[in-house]
Amino acid sequence: MNKKVSAVYPGSFDPPTNGHLDIITRASRLFPEIIVAVTENSVKNHMFSLEKRVELLKKSVSDIKNVKVISFSGLLADYLEKIDSFILIRGLRALSDFEYEFQMALMNRKLNKNIETVFLMPDQDYTFLSSSMVKEIAALGGKIEELVPECVADEFNK
Ligand code: ADP
Repeated sequence: MNKKVSAVYPGSFDPPTNGHLDIITRASRLFPEIIVAVTENSVKNHMFSLEKRVELLKKSVSDIKNVKVISFSGLLADYLEKIDSFILIRGLRALSDFEYEFQMALMNRKLNKNIETVFLMPDQDYTFLSSSMVKEIAALGGKIEELVPECVADEFNK
């Protein structure tokens, strides 16, 4: 393998949490370059715009040198082909993530047989953490400072 290996970490990141950051940090130690790909998901109603999610992620990963953040829409398999990268990173928190992630990984492989999905597990402190839980806690007036990067907490406080 003579080219720089990039791995793509896709997600909606609505908003980015410390769990996402934990996975990005782990992945950045395994691969020369990590591309965090922020998706416009037609099924989910997002709280934050695509531009805002990209901005928040860029701020959150600014001290990790080999990470870049991009946005994309369309089919992930096509995007991977375009940038000539075939490694996907996904996070696994609990058994409940498994079925969906397993289906996605096999479907992406069906769409492009070169795609390999690498699953990383976060620190156990983050296994209970999800973007939707952060939104729910914030909506009910709870403290989210320990769950998300500072710039994300600031955004909620605005
Ligand atoms: P999607 O809408 O594509 O599931 P998310 O932003 O919710 O996007 O999650 C992106 C990826 O990050 C998924 O693989 C998800 O399982 C993983 N993830 C989300 N929260 C955590 C967490 N707290 N710890 C580890 N992985 C996580």
